[in-house]
Amino acid sequence: MADSYEVTLIPGDGIGPEIVAAACRVVNATGVAIEWREVIAGSGALAEYGTPLPDHVLASIRQTGVALKGPVTTPVGSGFRSVNVTLRQSLDLYVNLRPAVSIPGVKSRYEDIDLVIVRENTEDLYAGIEHMVGPDAAESIKIITRRASERVARYAFEYARREKRRKVTAVHKANIMKMSDGLFLESARTVAADYSDIEFEDRIVDNMCMQLVQKPELYDVMVLPNLYGDIVSDLCAGLVGGLGVAPGANIGDTMAVFEPVHGSAPKYAGQNKANATATILSAVLMLRHLGEGEAADRVMAAVRQVIGEGKHVTYDLGGSAGTSEMADAIIESMSR
Ligand code: NAD
Repeated sequence: MADSYEVTLIPGDGIGPEIVAAACRVVNATGVAIEWREVIAGSGALAEYGTPLPDHVLASIRQTGVALKGPVTTPVGSGFRSVNVTLRQSLDLYVNLRPAVSIPGVKSRYEDIDLVIVRENTEDLYAGIEHMVGPDAAESIKIITRRASERVARYAFEYARREKRRKVTAVHKANIMKMSDGLFLESARTVAADYSDIEFEDRIVDNMCMQLVQKPELYDVMVLPNLYGDIVSDLCAGLVGGLGVAPGANIGDTMAVFEPVHGSAPKYAGQNKANATATILSAVLMLRHLGEGEAADRVMAAVRQVIGEGKHVTYDLGGSAGTSEMADAIIESMSR
């Protein structure tokens, strides 16, 4: 624990600024002293600097080591690469951590879900190597390396050990992509040999999806290549009631960026309507990362209380509260 922390704050665009402001108010209300260093990325940065990801955003995160980020719109088919993919690759944030935990009061067909997705964040089909082969065919190249696969698997096992989880499941399609997914699986097996205290198994990704829907209680921590990780983590968000309550973190050896799983939901921008819970829970992950576990527990308890009571929750949770009213209720609950 430190006296105060410098944290880079990226409000993002669409609903980003509203939900990030709500999350900041909740974090500030814990009493943990944070000096927020606000920088802009996304559509605002494109208008002001001619790029959605100016260099000073990356420089700020390199300096503070920690960022809280709102979602950023990726224009389909424009010349710019996704801000999110560029950020993760430029800062070598090689793990995308996405816990999916049931919160009583959030409407879902499932109860007691407690799953953790550890997604490789730097390569696979997200390496951005695509080209046309003549006018009527296109190729995307899937890159899988032993180094990236082993380090994400090691993170999954270290996480499992630290958080006292029982099992790591590696997810792949090595029966078809024998070389690329085969290497991912082989790397996970190599790392698993160093962790005899944690159970290890593997699943083919299509079967994994069905099993998660039918018997999610059988699973615990999952480690996946980038694309499957993206898809399966949305599936897991669905199990706990949707994107409004799904937090995430992008983690490297020296830096971490905390952000909700969901996007910028442009149709709700500026309406004080969006649910800030996923961003607030991302801030909970950030507080834990900073060593402020007690403050993180208080925020978590207040979120559970407000959602459980169901009186001051946003439209997607069945209520009529605005983004800021729900944050007020969480802050009020922390002071009770
Ligand atoms: P989205 O997550 O923005 O929206 C999907 C659905 O969920 C919509 O119906 C939306 O209204 C709803 N929703 C999402 N967040 C919500 C919240 N906090 N409260 C209430 N409802 C919420 O996904 P999309 O529409 O596919 O993407 C919109 C843009 O966001 C795209 O440009 C995409 O590239 C970008 N995106 C950014 C990130 C990121 O910055 N990390 C992640 C995903 C998508």
